Amino acid sequence: MRIVLLGAPGSGKGTQSQRLVERLGIPQISTGDLLRAAVARGTELGRQAKEAMDSGRLVDDSLVLGMIRERLGEPDTRKGFILDGFPRNLAQAHALDHLLEAVKQPLDAVVQLEVDYGELVKRIAGRRTCADCGRVFNLMTSPPAGANVSCPKTGQPHRLVQRPDDNEATVAERLRVYDEKTRPLVDFYRARGMLRAIDAEGDVDTVTRRLMQALGVRVPKTRRPVRKSAAKKAVRRTKTPAKRVRAKTPKQRRPSAPAKRRAKAPAKRARARRR
Ligand code: AMP
Repeated sequence: MRIVLLGAPGSGKGTQSQRLVERLGIPQISTGDLLRAAVARGTELGRQAKEAMDSGRLVDDSLVLGMIRERLGEPDTRKGFILDGFPRNLAQAHALDHLLEAVKQPLDAVVQLEVDYGELVKRIAGRRTCADCGRVFNLMTSPPAGANVSCPKTGQPHRLVQRPDDNEATVAERLRVYDEKTRPLVDFYRARGMLRAIDAEGDVDTVTRRLMQALGVRVPKTRRPVRKSAAKKAVRRTKTPAKRVRAKTPKQRRPSAPAKRRAKAPAKRARARRR
């Protein structure tokens, strides 16, 4: 499957992409992650991208398109891919179309993750990333303690860091840029009949379920965790069936009113005869 996840910063594109990677076995291609890696390695691309990233603006299309062309040329993308954070404007969307048309591998779906503005700001404030494995956590909604696992790269507890562009001023600019440059893509893909929008608020598992449904992927039924009170009730119920089963046998079933009258009738007749 070739998928684009569309949504504002903080809408959960990264988190949900990681879920899709596990379930669909196709790679996540996050232009934000690729750019951050280039900055961390100190490459020429990273050097040119850094200023725009730090101020919350979009990195130049020519840089991003060169990077994405190279990444989509790698063999692991043949089975499909999840684009996270790309395309970010109409020029990038057209360029992606041409790129995929040339290899006859058009997109299958574009899913828009819808989240309220206030919720986005809250989520970004609590967002932390493991500096070693890149897994995304949220101090409010999915803290690493809840995940109960150590970092798969180091075997130690996750080393959480906050992204430098997750500060208040930059977040406001990134949300503004989203509205101006990226939101028009909703209409662009809707007009092509490719857009599926989901409510991306609520707990992470629920959103994953909605996302899988939107993609038409069969969702395995999850077992609900058994609450303590429900578990007690279940135990109480298992103690009584023996009695109930016995009560249902013909002998022990309580006689109905007509049956009682029939049973008393011979005695009545005998008394009448005696009189
Ligand atoms: P993200 O991790 O997707 O929130 O991206 C972080 C930053 O990287 C953005 O604020 C932009 O500065 C830059 N960036 C990521 N993807 C793109 C893109 N497709 N086009 C331009 N800039 C991008």
